[in-house]
Formats: sequence, C-alpha cells, structure tokens
Amino acid sequence: MNDTTVAEVAASFRELYGAGPQGVWAAPGRVNLIGEYTDFNEGFVMPLALPHTALAAVSRRTDGVLRLHSADIQGPVVELRVDELEPRSGSGWAAYPAGVVWALRAAGHAVTGADIHLTSAVPTGAGLSSSAALEVVTALALRDLYELPLTMAQLAALAQRAENEFVGVPCGIMDQTASACCTEGHVLHLDARDLTRHQIPFDLPAQGLRLLVVDTRVKHALGDGAYAQRRAGCEQGARELGVRTLRDVSAAQLPDALAELSSPTVRDYVRHVVSDNERVARVAALLAAGDVRAVGPVLTEGHASLRDDLRVSCAELDLVVDTAVAAGALGARMTGGGFGGSAIVLLDEPALGPVSKALTSAFEHADLAAPRLFEAVPSAGARRLA
Ligand code: ADP
Ligand code: MG
Repeated sequence: MNDTTVAEVAASFRELYGAGPQGVWAAPGRVNLIGEYTDFNEGFVMPLALPHTALAAVSRRTDGVLRLHSADIQGPVVELRVDELEPRSGSGWAAYPAGVVWALRAAGHAVTGADIHLTSAVPTGAGLSSSAALEVVTALALRDLYELPLTMAQLAALAQRAENEFVGVPCGIMDQTASACCTEGHVLHLDARDLTRHQIPFDLPAQGLRLLVVDTRVKHALGDGAYAQRRAGCEQGARELGVRTLRDVSAAQLPDALAELSSPTVRDYVRHVVSDNERVARVAALLAAGDVRAVGPVLTEGHASLRDDLRVSCAELDLVVDTAVAAGALGARMTGGGFGGSAIVLLDEPALGPVSKALTSAFEHADLAAPRLFEAVPSAGARRLA
C-alpha cells in the first residue's frame, strides 16, 4: 500500500545523511472493529492493521546525537541530543520518534543516538493511528539496531509511554499494540487489563464480505479536550461504583450500577463503556462461530452508543453510518477517537459500488469535501523490511 518502496526510502536516507541506512522497518496504521474508549478503562478492543504503513530507514550513532527527518513534512532535519530529551518540550512531529528514544532510555536501554528518515502512507489525524505507526516503527528499528531484549508488546508499551508522557497525549494502549502486534488476516482481541492477546481469523472475502474505511477528512477541534473529559468521567464513574475501572462492571450489573450514579453524564459514559465491552465479547463469539455477517448490526449499535451516550461522534460520521446502512451495508460505526476522522462499513461485496456511490453523493449534497474510501484489508503488524 506504500507507494514509497524500500529502495526509495533508503535512497532518500543516503541523500540526507551521506550513507545508506543499516535497515528499513515498517509499522501499520489501524482501524478498530469494535470496543471504543474501552482501553483506558482496562476493557477490550478489537483492532486490525491496515496495509498502510509508516516506513523508517535508520542507522545507529554512538555520539549521543539524534537526527530526525520526515519526507512528509516540509522542513529540515531535526537534530537533538539524546541526553537532553525533555518530556513535553514541543518539537512538533519530531516529538513522536524522539519520545520513543526518551522512553527507551528512561527504561534503562542505552540508546546512544540514531539517524532516522521516515515516510508514512497512514493518513494523519484521520483516526487511523498515524502517530502510533510512527512510534512503533521507531521503537522496532531501535530495538533491532541496539539488540534490545524487548517483545513487540513491550515496544508497544514504551511507544504508549512516549505518546503519554513525552508528547503529552493521554491515549490508551490499543493503537500502539495494534501497530506492533496485529497479524495478516486477523483482528486482534486485546484485553487492555492484562494485555492478553488473541488473533482471531478475519477472512472477509471468503464470506463474500468487505470492510470499507471512510475517512470523512474532517477533524473538529473539540476532540482534544473531549477525550480527557470522557476519561475523567469514566474514572469518576469507577470511583463512585467502588471498582478499580469500569472493566469491573459486567453487562448484567449495569442496571444496578447506573442506579447508583449521581451524574446523568457519568451514567451515560458508564453505559457506553460497559455495553461496548459486551459488544466486543459478542463480536468475538460471532467471529468464532463464523457468522461474520451478524457483526454488522453490532457495529451500528456501537455507533449509536458512541453518538448518544459518549457523545463523541459528529454530523459527518453520523452521515456515513446512516447513509451506508440505508444503502444496504450490514453495519457501520465511527472508529477511533471521533469528532471527525474515519468510520468503518461492513458490507456484502455486491453492495460496495452502491454504498460507495451513496456516500459520495450524500457528502456532495451536504456540501462536504468528498470522503476518502478504501478497503480495510487485515494486514501485518510492524516488521523489518531490509
Ligand atoms: P492519528 O494518530 O489519528 O493519525 P494524531 O493526532 O494522534 O492522529 O497524530 C498525528 C500526528 O502524528 C501528526 O500531526 C504528526 O505530528 C505526526 N505524524 C504522523 N505521520 C507523520 C509523518 N508521516 N511525518 C511526520 N509526522 C507525522
Ligand atoms: Mg494518534
């Protein structure tokens, strides 16, 4: 899916830094099938990796210098010193890879510098985790070059720490784990409490099905503060219920739990988290039983919960879901943090044309820029390419 090849990214590295890289690595973006705003509640998620990846050409250095360049950003090489990296010190896009170096060093790994050239085919800010792809590709490259004894799951945790503490974005563990640990042809069933992972076969074409990603190409500014606010609301709910996290409330306990909560807003958030955890379990059971078509309505139900209870959807995402379902899709929902970004649509293969057409014309009628549509083919997680 990357138009840029390994040879091209290596050639750009050579041009920038004067010698070829010691290796080239890839890490994908992701979409989440079901389980949204559940990871930081120690609940369940079910992402799949996209064919779109971030590529990194990297060499190690021994002089404490970290040089960073992105082919996708106008600007010169960013040069930093590894022993001067400070959390939340800014530096724009470079904070993502620099944060990974910081997190590795903070965990006691002697990373003494690197030259890094990045390029990514993951759309940025579209809810497809371009940031996690950037972090994970950097983490994997440094692990290999410095021969660090770290598993993919440990790399994901370090990448999350980089984003939380160095960049300053309070994301959960899903995005980095998806980029690091997904496998081709599967969705990843992740327990965000103990980080247990199960790869569940997700062969849509075998069932005559397709999963469409619809990038609305809008991002509402509201999103940043809203995430932290939802998080705080969930934590308040857990506190009032006397549980460690909302993961500890089962669907059967939900009615009693709701009756105990004082704030209507918190009640709505709790209803979303508990019900979405239950939807992940339901989807896992449907996939295990081979009934993939029945996943569709569960997705649409999840969207209604994100829209009405958690209130993180927006008009454009609702338009995608309503239009797709009306045009014959099996189900649809927003994916990722919301307030814009992308939705996913599950459909029978013959519905691909009509649904795509309906979406394009609905956006046109609403005076919106055309959405970007592409198929989500469950792809491999991070790996070394050369
Ligand atoms: P998402 O992860 O959903 O795409 P984020 O806001 O979390 O959105 O991350 C997007 C940010 O990641 C960009 O603003 C930029 O700083 C960084 N980023 C992503 N891809 C690239 C790239 N190819 N080159 C440089 N920076 C990138
Ligand atoms: Mg991100």
